[in-house]
Amino acid sequence: MHKKLFIPGPVDVAPDVLEKMATPMIGHRTKDASNLQRSISEKMQKVMFTDRQILLSTSSGSGLMEGAIRSCTRKRAAVFSVGAFGKRWHEMAVANGVLADLFESEMGKPTTPGMVEEALATGKYDLVTITHNETSTGVMNPVEAIAKIIKKYPDVVFALDTVSSMAGTKIEVDQLDVDICITSTQKALGLPPGLAICSISEKAIEAAKQVSTRGYYLDLLALYEYIQKKDYQYPSTPSLSHMFALDYQLNHILEEGLENRFQRHLEMAKYVRSWAEKHFELFPEEAYASNTLTTIRNTKGISVADLNKKLGERGYSISNGYGSLKEKTFRIAHMAETTLEDLKALLNEIDDIIK
Ligand SMILES: *Cc1c(COP(=O)(O)O)cnc(C)c1O
Repeated sequence: MHKKLFIPGPVDVAPDVLEKMATPMIGHRTKDASNLQRSISEKMQKVMFTDRQILLSTSSGSGLMEGAIRSCTRKRAAVFSVGAFGKRWHEMAVANGVLADLFESEMGKPTTPGMVEEALATGKYDLVTITHNETSTGVMNPVEAIAKIIKKYPDVVFALDTVSSMAGTKIEVDQLDVDICITSTQKALGLPPGLAICSISEKAIEAAKQVSTRGYYLDLLALYEYIQKKDYQYPSTPSLSHMFALDYQLNHILEEGLENRFQRHLEMAKYVRSWAEKHFELFPEEAYASNTLTTIRNTKGISVADLNKKLGERGYSISNGYGSLKEKTFRIAHMAETTLEDLKALLNEIDDIIK
């Protein structure tokens, strides 16, 4: 039996989108391949509210995170972390020999504009990474206020992880002046895992040109230049299957209407939050609670593993807490094509199990 997924990725994929993954292959050096990549880019620009170039990477989101910090850090990166995925960016820097400092917030708390200001004022950094939506703690960072601070430092490249929030909540890349905004397919975009997407600014491209060891496969400059020189092609063979499905799913997303989609996500988030507050507690402060997943503090001390096992027997799956938050918290995702009705059905089952 397929379990309905309320985990923060991979998400359930609509059957017609899954079918597009089975589209017969085309040559990756054909006009059709260029047209496919161009079509995806134009639609992604709408979802991301940007005129900047869109890059695709046949990797999961982590690929472009690694590519960004390695390709565009000239001196030193300031990595702000509010949980597991922020920390990952620091681990990537270290693994690639990129100089970086980690600025961590307490679990459940956001990155504050003050923290960013204090770090950037030292003049030591030329790249900053922010997690928009931290999938471990369920914190959505105050990105507008943070972006305002970063704008005061025109030499600093701003890299933003929107892996678990893009297409589920409004992120206006150009207005925030994000230089590299990264997402991947298996979360709020509603596709199978395996493709990552980012927007990239001229500033980030110019920064990359000053970095000599950008790696090879995840070199953002190479991805960018290939699009310019070869009319929307990809340096190696991309996952054309994902591209067929993404192009199709983006039509669906734009037909739903971005504002409607964001509203649907917000309504689901509010519903889960109020349920959580009735039975448990929210893990983050409500003002910083994510619109695409809710991390709930296990104040009743239930066995989350056991709950999930019982949910599994009823055809549902949620997530335990991440890493050190396992059993102390649990997570319910409400992203991509999930509806309020789906969520109500899930929460009814949980109510019935824990009563
Ligand atoms: C899932 C996730 C990642 C990692 O993305 P992959 O596509 O699994 O590599 C990074 N950041 C956040 C916030 C995520 O939710």
